[in-house]
Amino acid sequence: MLLFTAALLICPGIFRNEEARAYTVKNNKVTIYEGETFPMDSIVSDADFLKLRLISSDRSVSTPTKDGALLGLGIGECVVTVSDRKGTRDEIEVKVVSKSDIHMVALTLDDGPGSHAMELMDYFDSRNVKVTFFMIGADIGNYPKSAQRMVDEGHEIGSHTMNHKQLTAIKKDRALREIEEGAKVIEEVAGVPPTVWRPPYGDSTEEQRIAAGMPTVLWNIDTLDWKYKDADRVAREIINGASDGNIILVHEIYKTTVEGIKKALDQLCAKGIRFVTSTTLLTRDGTPVEDLIGQRLFSKKVKKK
Ligand SMILES: [Zn+2]
Repeated sequence: MLLFTAALLICPGIFRNEEARAYTVKNNKVTIYEGETFPMDSIVSDADFLKLRLISSDRSVSTPTKDGALLGLGIGECVVTVSDRKGTRDEIEVKVVSKSDIHMVALTLDDGPGSHAMELMDYFDSRNVKVTFFMIGADIGNYPKSAQRMVDEGHEIGSHTMNHKQLTAIKKDRALREIEEGAKVIEEVAGVPPTVWRPPYGDSTEEQRIAAGMPTVLWNIDTLDWKYKDADRVAREIINGASDGNIILVHEIYKTTVEGIKKALDQLCAKGIRFVTSTTLLTRDGTPVEDLIGQRLFSKKVKKK
């Protein structure tokens, strides 16, 4: 007791400051494209932005905006200091890169929702990453909050059919029911209809792809995460596969995949790779969604000018 009182006398601020901290830093390395903004709530959480002070070391590189974002102004690097009135202070390293260097990649997560979806979304939020979840109709009812949060946070809702059957190995009308029911149940739980679908094992007929009425998104980078269940291997596959225009396949239901995603994206986001939804990637050159229906979509490469 005596020691504790003495500690309070010597360092009166310590205990109070810890309690009164007005924000927490989620991400202290940020890459922004020139002319674009990065939302501050992906950098610090629990914050009342009006009570924070944000100071940039170089306002020609990046500057905080009034509505809670960092604006990328000129190519270069700077440090943005965040502080609150209680004296808490943190430094965020900001890098602004050229728009012509944008590398877009779609990370697609199959076979959920599962018990890791919330943890993944916390992580994606901290990196300003948007992904596509290809969910199984029969399972989505177990995770309604996860599904609704995906919608709220701008992730794309994809259907992985009702029961994950290989559609080319079952009767025609049964296969069409798998597609239709999956989309219906997902809409009921998530509150919005799926905008893309992925046939289990990647197998579908043209008739099924057209009947689905939405783009059939496949992949060109297979991490084989389900086979090896090795976080380092998942991370390596994602890092090696994260070239512009690629669609990467992982399965959100394995703990090793969740760890691998975090390891890979920590590096890739710091390098300025942008993770976007399948539809954002596939329509990046102005192709209307309707034109994608019926095709088998593996990636989207665009010639840079
Ligand atoms: Zn699957």
